[in-house]
Amino acid sequence: MSRVFNFSAGPAALPLEVLEQIQDDIPDWQGTGMSVMECSHRGKEFVELAARAEANLRKLLSIPDDYSVLFPQGGATMQMAMAPLNLAAAGDRADYVVTGSWGKKAAGEAAKFCDVNIAADASDRKFTYIPEESSWSRSDNAAYLHYTPNETIAGVEFHFIPGGDAPLVADMSSTILSRPVDVGRFGVIYAGAQKNIGPAGITVVIVKNELLDRARNDNPHLMTWKSYADSDSMTNTPPTFAWYVADLVFRWLLEKGGVEAMAEVNARKANKLYAAIDRLDFYSNPVAKDCRSWMNVPFILADDSLDASFLKKSKAAGLTNLKGHRSVGGMRASIYNAVPEAAVDALIDFMVEFEKTHG
Ligand SMILES: *Cc1c(COP(=O)(O)O)cnc(C)c1O
Repeated sequence: MSRVFNFSAGPAALPLEVLEQIQDDIPDWQGTGMSVMECSHRGKEFVELAARAEANLRKLLSIPDDYSVLFPQGGATMQMAMAPLNLAAAGDRADYVVTGSWGKKAAGEAAKFCDVNIAADASDRKFTYIPEESSWSRSDNAAYLHYTPNETIAGVEFHFIPGGDAPLVADMSSTILSRPVDVGRFGVIYAGAQKNIGPAGITVVIVKNELLDRARNDNPHLMTWKSYADSDSMTNTPPTFAWYVADLVFRWLLEKGGVEAMAEVNARKANKLYAAIDRLDFYSNPVAKDCRSWMNVPFILADDSLDASFLKKSKAAGLTNLKGHRSVGGMRASIYNAVPEAAVDALIDFMVEFEKTHG
């Protein structure tokens, strides 16, 4: 067996211990004589799994009791529609802070259903900074304020939580579980699984219970958070395999010391990678230093005609999926929880060596 260091932005690396557990479990899960994929979601074993996954996620993020934890399908993108459909009546205002491509997409989706006010927009500098909070033009009676704590593509992360009275709705797809977060400050947190939680196919939504009664009457059942809250997310057949893997990842995180321990390692990984990028003449990162992402680190080569060579040689060295998003160019290293510090060390060594021979 040979495993690479996988810097994919998503679907992303999973912990090897989790993969090995899956391999072990597949033919005969928990003495059922079948794989988890073949079990009823209403069976005792699966219902226990679902309850444990929720309890462990609550523990990991210290989720207050007056929040529900939902596990829908549809990814983060479906939540971009569900947020307005569950929080705003047609014609209500919702504020959007756009600091990257995902926030822009969320605002575009919401504009189909309510009156979107772009409170701030960082596209004037190619999404490389976060506009000063005091400069945001917020509405007086916004149904909510939506923002993206970590923009996965340009690598821009909020290292603070916005203030104000409107409920905060946060797309945490690429930063959830990377560090502690004060959930009580939020109305809704949502995240697709395939970065820091598990395989694609399941979504985590954490919603304050007092917000569950605002959904439109004509909402489809599956687009209504309350349907999931009232049915333990079994309003229809849930993505059982993805849920099972998420449960294993939550247990892995707890064994590793939880999100506090993750935060320590993640800060160290990010800091040393940015330090190398800043120190080496051949590489640069365009993002303002106060909002560089801990999870997604884009970097540009001084000579972009060497991009292909960098990718080819890094791949040969066991460092994969470093190609940057086409809207940014260059490289991007996504260094989620399951990407070990040794991967970052190996990448830095490779970058130093590549600069020596090509720079
Ligand atoms: C990956 C990502 C998405 C898209 O998630 P899907 O699960 O594919 O819908 C949305 N927002 C952010 C911040 C992401 O990183």
